[in-house]
Amino acid sequence: MTKRQQLYEGKAKKVFATDDPELLIVSYKDDATAFNGLKKGTIVGKGIVNNKMSNLLMKRLEKAGIPTHFTKELSDRETLVKKVSIIPLEVIIRNIAAGSFSKRYGVEEGFVFETPTIEFSYKNDALGDPLMDEYHAIAMKLATKDEIETIKKYAFGVNELLKAFWAECGVTLVDFKLEFGRLSDGSIVLADEISPDTCRLWDSATGEKLDKDRFRRDLGGVEDAYAEVMKRLTQHI
Ligand code: ADP
Ligand code: UDP
Repeated sequence: MTKRQQLYEGKAKKVFATDDPELLIVSYKDDATAFNGLKKGTIVGKGIVNNKMSNLLMKRLEKAGIPTHFTKELSDRETLVKKVSIIPLEVIIRNIAAGSFSKRYGVEEGFVFETPTIEFSYKNDALGDPLMDEYHAIAMKLATKDEIETIKKYAFGVNELLKAFWAECGVTLVDFKLEFGRLSDGSIVLADEISPDTCRLWDSATGEKLDKDRFRRDLGGVEDAYAEVMKRLTQHI
């Protein structure tokens, strides 16, 4: 598949057109940002880990009945995906309190929830991705009620599948962010990426953080953490 013009450069990936109007090529960068772009840096090799991890996990999800945009891994950093119209909601699932949840509600990091939670943020950098109630999303015509129901079903499904899989790798899936989009026929698929940039992953034995929090919080050993989760994943997939 020939790579055509660059359509977009985001914080972590570049997106290119292809000869097929229904397909895009995404290219994963080593650039890292946090706090809505205020903190910037590089995590050497991150693009390769995120590309490969996302593809392995999406393939697994697809087999288990969750439709995804994944089409074909083209190289270490590049993947062919189905083009979607992104629904501008960050869909966040949590199993354990951390990050903004702990801060907002004064709950200690590590508090294990009774049941998983879901929340939406409006994907809008200028507004700082504010939390958004599903009624507000429907009111603003970002998604229909049926689409929100489908997204919730898929997101909780992804959580059950990934929680079990990461547990086999000795990793606890604390929380993660998903993005969904519409194909040209209107059906909803999982898009974007699933990686240590978008998930909190803790070593089940030691509680050590193996994700982007090492970068956000200046904990050091960022590259090693990404390499470690990738190693665990490839040993168990
Ligand atoms: P950001 O836009 O937040 O800086 P990235 O650097 O990851 O994020 O850029 C990738 C962009 O591509 C994101 O805006 C994401 O919503 C979008 N995207 C992901 N998957 C697809 C897809 N299958 N079709 C169209 N756009 C996609
Ligand atoms: N997350 C993400 N992109 C965002 C915001 C959050 O991938 O723009 C992921 C983050 O990595 C974590 C989960 O969503 O796994 C929940 O993040 P949280 O709301 O706790 O925010 P943070 O502490 O990252 O600001």
